[in-house]
Amino acid sequence: MVGGHYNRGVTGKALIIVDVQYDFCEGGSLAVAGGTDVADRLAAALCDEDFLGHYDLLVTTQDWHIDPGEHFAAEGEEPDFRVSWPVHCVAESSGARIIAALDDEVARVHAIPVVRVFKGHYSAAYSGFEGVTDDEERLLDSLRAHGITDVDIVGIATDYCVKQTAVHAAEAGLRTTVLKDFCVGIDADAVASLNAHGFADAGIAVR
Ligand SMILES: [Zn+2]
Repeated sequence: MVGGHYNRGVTGKALIIVDVQYDFCEGGSLAVAGGTDVADRLAAALCDEDFLGHYDLLVTTQDWHIDPGEHFAAEGEEPDFRVSWPVHCVAESSGARIIAALDDEVARVHAIPVVRVFKGHYSAAYSGFEGVTDDEERLLDSLRAHGITDVDIVGIATDYCVKQTAVHAAEAGLRTTVLKDFCVGIDADAVASLNAHGFADAGIAVR
């Protein structure tokens, strides 16, 4: 049922929800303050038919680490929170699950297809475009198969995985928008700079 109730001609729009996982929310091993609020706002939005009616496809991404090498700080060493991080989002662990309030709403979406993407199995992967579905389909191939030309990107963290996913989307020629009220970042200055000009400089709209 691609297209839902709308005839949009040659355009198709996806909502990409990036990494709204327990380890990135309050109480998680790599908690981003405000993550739980973002999950709640997104869960409420998915209940709203007017909001969901804008989209032809819903995508979720999850950090899904098996052995990501230097992405995890070595045992006994401090993570630098730039390249090396505390252990987080280990595949199949509770910390890698999408926040239940949001995941339940994702599971209730039937008006449009839902694609779940997993990334970072054996190396760092900040962008959802580095991820694959359970059928090993890459995100860009999945978007193309669904006729997607436009993407709205939301989630955690604005200055890492949201940014990299948006940059790759724009580089792939997709009309790309970051919905800032549905995002939260790690470094407030970095987020302010991205919203002020960094995203625009990369050809990404912010609203
Ligand atoms: Zn990671």
